[in-house]
Amino acid sequence: MNRRYADLRAALRERVRIADLLQARGVPVRPNGRGGGTALCPFHDDHRPSLNIYRSRRDDTERFRCWNCGSRGDVFDFAQTLLDYPDHTATLRALATEHRVPWPEHDEPVSSDVLDRAAQFYAGRLTPQSSATWPSAAFPSRSCGSTASGMRPSLLLRVICSCA
Ligand SMILES: [Zn+2]
Repeated sequence: MNRRYADLRAALRERVRIADLLQARGVPVRPNGRGGGTALCPFHDDHRPSLNIYRSRRDDTERFRCWNCGSRGDVFDFAQTLLDYPDHTATLRALATEHRVPWPEHDEPVSSDVLDRAAQFYAGRLTPQSSATWPSAAFPSRSCGSTASGMRPSLLLRVICSCA
């Protein structure tokens, strides 16, 4: 995943705790005094707390491991399995919505990216002759003013020609 998703996951890691996910389901967590704790494992029929919650020495992220059934991973793996999300992306989306963390694509200038790609597509197909005749042929005077996208034809053509 790219940097935007890395930022999203970092923001979610600050807000979502494995202990909170467990306690929301009525499973108590006994703190161990080192930022982690132990609890009954929700992934098998556990009668003695065998789920260990701890901070990774490698990157300080919150992780879990069950010494009985072997389930392990980070907070997203835990939420995905516990809450039955179909995949990692669905898990991130649900947690981002719940914790009001903006989804990365909302910040991306999608419309200008599409225009750039369209301009590059047409720029490679313009000949000197077509760029001289194209404006009047493509945009008859009675419909001139704006294109369906709201961009003036002359401006659109300048964008296209500037890419040629
Ligand atoms: Zn287990």
